[in-house]
Amino acid sequence: MRVVEILFYNSSRVKLIVEMSDPDIYTTKHAPHIPRLLFKLFPHLARHHCDNDNGFSFRRECESTEIPHLLEHLIIELQGQVRGAGTLKGETQWNWRVDPKGRFHVYVDFDNEILVLGAIRAAERIIQALDNRRIEEINVDREIERLKHLAEVGDLIKRGDPVPPSAEDSQDQLTSIHAP
Ligand SMILES: [Zn+2]
Repeated sequence: MRVVEILFYNSSRVKLIVEMSDPDIYTTKHAPHIPRLLFKLFPHLARHHCDNDNGFSFRRECESTEIPHLLEHLIIELQGQVRGAGTLKGETQWNWRVDPKGRFHVYVDFDNEILVLGAIRAAERIIQALDNRRIEEINVDREIERLKHLAEVGDLIKRGDPVPPSAEDSQDQLTSIHAP
């Protein structure tokens, strides 16, 4: 599964185009280990509200749902863990009469542009790692810390404030001054 396009759809919603590497393998029925490992890393996902055709809880729905639908909920969960309060919504759609099979359109709310970009890439990486059964590669606390930094930068940009250089940036500046 890959996020192949990210579009700022409007001032509070991004649209992603997601493609499955194998268009015939796109549900958790084919990959039950993904939701099993995902709920282990993110137990709060079980409390997500989910509107689905069956009226199932999100956890029950995950036994048989499209993998990009998990991505949608995970992007919301990551943003929620960084921001705390507030409700973000999402939606996953597909229409294979128009699009090639295996392509999905995922919509996710955001309130911080830089944070949502970080959350999208983190969620993509997490689902890929879980698909490959490499749960040990994911450190949730570290992911959230990184996203908190991105959210701070996003807040500065939104307010038009200068972004202070990180320690690494100043090191780079010094190096370039002394370079021949
Ligand atoms: Zn849902």
